[in-house]
Amino acid sequence: MPPLAAFRRAVRAAVAAAFAFALGLAAAAPAPARSALPSGDPVGPRVELTPAEPRAGEVAVVEVDCRPRGGLCPEGLSLRWAGQDIALFPHPVRGPAFRAGLLAVPLTAKAEPTALEALWSEAGRPVSRPVAFRIRAGVFAEEALRVDPRHVHPSPQDRERIRREREELERIYAAGAPSPLWRGRFLAPVPGEVSGAFGTRRVFNGELISRHTGVDFRAAAGDPVAAAASGVVRLGKELFYSGNAVVVDHGAGVFTSYSHLSRIEVGVGQRVARGEGIGRVGATGRATGPHLHWGVKVNGVAVDPLALLEATALLARE
Ligand SMILES: [Zn+2]
Repeated sequence: MPPLAAFRRAVRAAVAAAFAFALGLAAAAPAPARSALPSGDPVGPRVELTPAEPRAGEVAVVEVDCRPRGGLCPEGLSLRWAGQDIALFPHPVRGPAFRAGLLAVPLTAKAEPTALEALWSEAGRPVSRPVAFRIRAGVFAEEALRVDPRHVHPSPQDRERIRREREELERIYAAGAPSPLWRGRFLAPVPGEVSGAFGTRRVFNGELISRHTGVDFRAAAGDPVAAAASGVVRLGKELFYSGNAVVVDHGAGVFTSYSHLSRIEVGVGQRVARGEGIGRVGATGRATGPHLHWGVKVNGVAVDPLALLEATALLARE
């Protein structure tokens, strides 16, 4: 059987098995993916997700266990899911036989069985294996907000500016450092409580509906804002919606952004340490009052920053 057909067949079997398992039909389910592959195939690494069934908008830790291969991870090992190339790095806690990475589930992902693809090369021959998992539905509230009409009906000039800024951000998010620049867990950038959850459906001035792609923290104008982890500043400027904003690249596909600042205190290219001040809380851009909007991108996908706090805690000894 050609490798692609074998892979497709294995994906179908893995997805069917995961679905049957979720329905409590494991006994009647088709054979698991591993036995759907030709016998004599090389032993693959074990791949595990935490949470095992991530919700839409969450980030999951992917752990690769190479002990079934004598502790040696295969050459050129990579993981792909839904267009994401998941950067793998030495596992910070579990030792040299393990690799770790982060998988981002988009806010709009459907609750359904799916499979990521593990790829590597075996004696010069490409090998791929599906790893089945299931996505759970996210739970999102709706809220109504009143803002400056300019931020609901942007002028043609503002729309052009919004387009340019979106392109600039996309370029930044596509060109991060390949390996982690952080150590230990990420920390919330301000001490206040969360006043606006990730993923909320927002109705601005009774008409514009958008999704809230970060979390809001209660904070007073002028309060210091700290980098959530070490990294390199990739953007520090005023944007139409975000106001004064800072974007930090943490490597391995992870970026954090800090919006509506009254003041930016770092420059592009500057290295920052976890807890180091990057600016001050404000209400610039599309904001109803002073607060910190904290955003996280993983592999180009906006995810719940609170889920990143949990994921990175799992990959830290602290
Ligand atoms: Zn916000």
